[in-house]
Amino acid sequence: MAVKNQSDLRDNNIRMLLQALVRSGPLSRSELCRAIGLTPPAVTGLTKQLLDDGILFEQKPGARQPTGAGRPPILLQLRDDAYTALGVEIGVDRLTMGVIGITGKFLHVQTLRLDATALPEQVVDAIYAFYANYTANLQGPGVHLCGIGLAATGRVDSTSGINRFAPNLGWRDVPLGRMLQDRLQIPASVDNNVRLMALAEEWFGKARNSRSLVFVQVSSGVGCGILLPGIGLVRGTYHGAGELGHCTVVPQGPLCTCGKQGCLEALVSNKALVKAYEQASGSSALPSNDRQGQVAVLVQRAQDGDPIAKDILLNAAEHLGIGLATIVNLIEPRSIILNGNAFVRTPLTRGWIQEAVQRHTFGNATAVEFLDSTFQDKQAMVGAATAVFRKCVL
Ligand SMILES: [Zn+2]
Repeated sequence: MAVKNQSDLRDNNIRMLLQALVRSGPLSRSELCRAIGLTPPAVTGLTKQLLDDGILFEQKPGARQPTGAGRPPILLQLRDDAYTALGVEIGVDRLTMGVIGITGKFLHVQTLRLDATALPEQVVDAIYAFYANYTANLQGPGVHLCGIGLAATGRVDSTSGINRFAPNLGWRDVPLGRMLQDRLQIPASVDNNVRLMALAEEWFGKARNSRSLVFVQVSSGVGCGILLPGIGLVRGTYHGAGELGHCTVVPQGPLCTCGKQGCLEALVSNKALVKAYEQASGSSALPSNDRQGQVAVLVQRAQDGDPIAKDILLNAAEHLGIGLATIVNLIEPRSIILNGNAFVRTPLTRGWIQEAVQRHTFGNATAVEFLDSTFQDKQAMVGAATAVFRKCVL
């Protein structure tokens, strides 16, 4: 933030103070001084204003054991709903909506099934109904809704709020940001869903102090969000960065939804795994209501010793390992967070994937830590809300 005058300086200091409390949880005044590099009188002045405004409250003395002699410090804590944001993910088959507090707490969540033929106007109607219901039930003063964040699939221009291409929904150039802003009359921001998953992990997740992470989502598609130190989220010159799923892994391989052949997504997505098993085994459809469930059955069969299931998933682990090793070779992140279907989350198959990464990495891939995501199927929803907080108060 460019600091031009005293008011800007104060706003900037408040932002730093809120960031410290979001990242670290409750802190004493002296810890805040150290965290943000301000003098005790400056921190006392800022915290008094935030206490008066109801943004912060003081925890009871003794909430944390003292580390040395003397009285336990009074800790300052952010009120969960001091600032809130609406986070929405438009998934391939579902719409996940929630109101998230500034501390990352879920205040109100709803998931709806989404038809693959849904029109953008119908999705905006459903989001408006959720928003209207939430705001109608708000009680008491002081709840500040900063805006709405939207996580969309495919290519998203986060500057203009336009979903350029969402192949799974058949959408092109949909101005989601403007449509939502017009309908809800609150600020709207839009970005790619997996990029936002990475953002949620950076601010509210297990990897919140890593600042060098790659978030990889493997489910109906394959995507990744890249966060680098000193840069933040990598979007690319034309908003297309992070399309891990459309990197070619097997030339002349199976046809992908993007029109190319042998993309990683065409080899390890839910649909690809299920299809490969059904073709190889000659058996009827795997029993489940949806593809994510079918992948869980497939992984269970591999765990139970089914040689065809094992073969299909070892092959998929090799392909995903090649994709992940390429990321490690290019940017060497500290953490890779794998999220999505049972293939990437089950210890047996996760182990196969990590072994494949090791085989294909130049140097030592064991230095990279592999983690589970913090919010799983709510990850993009939290990330969308996080983007709003980043614009508004953080
Ligand atoms: Zn592709």
